[in-house]
Amino acid sequence: MALAVFEIRDVDLAGRIGRIYTAHGAVETPAFFPVIDVYRQEVSVEEVRAAGFGQVITNAYLLWKRFGREAAEKGVHGILGFQGVVMTDSGAYQILEYGGVELSQEEAIEYQKRLGSDIAVILDIPTGDVGRREAEESVRETIRRAVEARGMIEGDERIWVYPVQGGRYFDLVEESARVGSRLGYYRMYGIGSPTVFLERYMYHVVVEAVYRAKKHLPWGRPVHLFGAGHPLVLPYAVALGVDTFDSASYILYAREGRYITEHGVYRIEDLDYLPCSCPVCSRYTPQELREMDRGERTRLLALHNLYVIAASLRRVKQAIREGRLWELLEETSRKHPSTARVMARMGRYVDMLERGSARGRGVVRGVRAYGVESLSNPRLRRFYGDAARLVEAVAERWGGGRAVLKPLDPKPEPGECESMVGGEEWILFYQPFLGVIPVEACGAYPSLQMDYPQEGLPEEVIEDLASKIVSTVSTLRARGFQVRLEYCGRVEWQARTV
Ligand SMILES: [Zn+2]
Repeated sequence: MALAVFEIRDVDLAGRIGRIYTAHGAVETPAFFPVIDVYRQEVSVEEVRAAGFGQVITNAYLLWKRFGREAAEKGVHGILGFQGVVMTDSGAYQILEYGGVELSQEEAIEYQKRLGSDIAVILDIPTGDVGRREAEESVRETIRRAVEARGMIEGDERIWVYPVQGGRYFDLVEESARVGSRLGYYRMYGIGSPTVFLERYMYHVVVEAVYRAKKHLPWGRPVHLFGAGHPLVLPYAVALGVDTFDSASYILYAREGRYITEHGVYRIEDLDYLPCSCPVCSRYTPQELREMDRGERTRLLALHNLYVIAASLRRVKQAIREGRLWELLEETSRKHPSTARVMARMGRYVDMLERGSARGRGVVRGVRAYGVESLSNPRLRRFYGDAARLVEAVAERWGGGRAVLKPLDPKPEPGECESMVGGEEWILFYQPFLGVIPVEACGAYPSLQMDYPQEGLPEEVIEDLASKIVSTVSTLRARGFQVRLEYCGRVEWQARTV
């Protein structure tokens, strides 16, 4: 029995806005599941909900340790006092950490069924930051259990998650995802992210693991990233196709007096001002927070941290709606060295990023180019590829003659391009980031809807344009064209290219 649990409503790059349907309502993705600690929860679930989270995750193993049968009788919604969507993690990580094997896979699955979880995870073996051999073993054992679980979960009303393991051994991540993609009774996939990489801001490792896993996972199924909740990493994971996240960092940080921002994490002692306008930061000063009772401070900082995460996901969603997720990635890359490092690698993932990009969109927005990373913007790359093919096709049709390359500056008025087609001389324009644009395509999106810095362009961007010009000129010459190069000399990059 295959129930449709996920609906994709909008796509940009490989990121999507979607809906996951569960027995306790729908979750709009990308979504964050705050971790609820059943032993100690300074922020109430009502407050979590009020901060914008209609979904939470908690640990089935810890529920079992603390409440045993009682939790099974009341159900997880009853125990937490939360009527939204509840995901349970099997708690495999805690079992590993405490060295116990008190719960078999069968018991873990049965328990989560009795809890009435909306989304549940089989008893996997998280890879963590371990040696190769151990990582192989964790992948093998997780696959074995995932196959073994079939009889217990197939047709169940819960959404069961297949956990992709492998950690930083990306070939193992791929193998794990490849096998998982064939087990159709899992209606959701999870990517285990060793928290150690997240804590050390090694987002590039996490992002690489996401890419390797997503290459094999079915496009139509939601994908969860375990343990990730920092606003800096969320946009990149979403861009590569992650739909849901969970993390306890909002509360763990708060207990240590740490304050999450879009730019990184601060200690409350180090802040003179609160760069945020959430209900907490609008009401208190850093000094008031420092001086208050520890429990109350933890509660307020945790709330603030949740508001920041919520706001960053709203920003990501709006960027998807506008088709400007790439631009958001570029902006985020300037916020922290760790994101600059991730951004520098995003160009490797264009196959994935282009896979999801819709060609025609309802709302047409311009493209903003900032610097070197913009050269990898899938929309610009696609335009460049299309334009290069058009140059070949038109050159073929002309079969030689005279051609002129001139800067797309000033930009022609709408409709003006058409009047320039079919003259004595074939006109081709050139522009940084876009390359060479034959007049036949000069009105095509996004050639006239682009914003980029007119001055101070990085050397790499100028070189990129120069090499595209050189390659076009040699193509044209090979087809028997006499090529003339024009520039108006007003703008720095023109002079430097020509
Ligand atoms: Zn705040």
